[in-house]
Amino acid sequence: MLLLTVDEHSAEPIYRQIVAQIRDKIAGRVLLPGEKLPSTRRLADRLAIHRSTVATAYQELWALGFVDLSPGSCPRVRDRMQMATAADRGEKGLIDWQALSSPASENIWQAHRRISPQAGREDTAALINFASLDMDRRLFPLESFRACLDRAVKNHGEALLGYGARAGFGPLREYIARRLQGHGISVTTDEILITNGSQQGLDLVFRMLAAPGRTVAIESPTYSYVLPLLRFYGLTPVEIPVRRDGMDLDALEAAIAREKPVLVYTMPTFQNPTGITTGQAHRERLLSLCETHRLPILEDGFEEEMKYSGRVVLPVKSMDKRQLVIYCGTFSKVLFPGVRIGWLAAEKECVERLVAIHRFSEIAPSMILQAAIHEFCQSGHYDRHIGRMHRAYRKRMQTAIRALQRHIDPAWAEWTEPSGGFLIWLKLKQPPCPPADWQALLAAHGVEAATGSDFFNWETPETYLRLSISPLDEGEITAGVQRLAAALRQAHCPD
Ligand code: PMP
Repeated sequence: MLLLTVDEHSAEPIYRQIVAQIRDKIAGRVLLPGEKLPSTRRLADRLAIHRSTVATAYQELWALGFVDLSPGSCPRVRDRMQMATAADRGEKGLIDWQALSSPASENIWQAHRRISPQAGREDTAALINFASLDMDRRLFPLESFRACLDRAVKNHGEALLGYGARAGFGPLREYIARRLQGHGISVTTDEILITNGSQQGLDLVFRMLAAPGRTVAIESPTYSYVLPLLRFYGLTPVEIPVRRDGMDLDALEAAIAREKPVLVYTMPTFQNPTGITTGQAHRERLLSLCETHRLPILEDGFEEEMKYSGRVVLPVKSMDKRQLVIYCGTFSKVLFPGVRIGWLAAEKECVERLVAIHRFSEIAPSMILQAAIHEFCQSGHYDRHIGRMHRAYRKRMQTAIRALQRHIDPAWAEWTEPSGGFLIWLKLKQPPCPPADWQALLAAHGVEAATGSDFFNWETPETYLRLSISPLDEGEITAGVQRLAAALRQAHCPD
């Protein structure tokens, strides 16, 4: 017989007391799968309570997945253990997900497993991490952001809890339009779309263009997340080599004639992965070439704010009188990526078309986070934070370059010396004993870096490493370069 007790004087409602006791008995295997529970009438009589209280308890147990209910019969204990452990035992379910996945999504799945598989893993904490482009969390302005979040909710109230405007929170769009003027970009609020990080901005543009047989001109090497995405949408990447001064524009011109791309994707400032920034003349020629061919440019200004030294070069978008440039920006690389807020700036019709695509997948970006970021920017925190980040990362970049000069033999590698951003690109010279797996060799020396193959569309015979200093302080950078030097030394003089 099922032994239960109820305490009428407890603050806990009686039905909850019944639920808790039956749950405990199921967990303790006093009640076994398939076993019948008493009818509502019998249990109610036994406990001297109302039948509806027992019925409520049974409903709750059913909702929690502990019992099965069927009309006219007593509840039975559900076989939960078996359900829970099928996955634990690694048994395959009924559906063959690989066979069901489209070839496009199978490709993106393979890329997910191949590109930086360690990204986001916590178990590599002992390694000095030059692989991640995440920011140094120790610099996050947590308290001021928390206060802004609070103020935003207080000021805007329930309005923040709705879906909100499809193109984004009006005051934030206005702020971004004004801020872009500081970079020479003249756009109105209508020409701004807020996105869920700039990654979504890139995704929306590729989706707008996706059609079988189309091609997109990209820099080679390029941002590793763009290649799988283009292929997912059936867009064929056409690789344009990156030289010391940026994308090879003669090669681009030839590719335009040959491949008729529908877009040029470029990162003119602190390019990912090379860290290269193109000069004014390069930008003018790129724009004029694309104007001649009525070819839109997707300009990714992901690290636009992070200029540490030398003359500022304005974005290509700043010269864009014919409105062919779609400019993509983000808060991720100067503030923090966790808010997932980026933006696109483009001709109004283009923005409206992108809003439509956005609407049917994402509906709208999070109002609460947009309002908090707006409060953060509006109250001057953002400018102060950028100042702080410049001071910190200017020193960090100098430390990294000095450490490379000091510890890496020029016979082992050459590297770029960026005037901003977080990325240094190392081209390794062929060592006498190249390791079978560079990642493994680096890990054995306590350091990790992104390897070059992530950034090319095809296998490259050369070996590259991308060092990101964004998550590291000066001490970690110096120690990381020393570890890297030890790994390279081993590849060059194994004994
Ligand atoms: N563009 C480039 C070149 C990037 O490296 C990244 C992320 N590292 C992004 C866009 C996307 O960043 P987010 O979505 O965080 O704005």
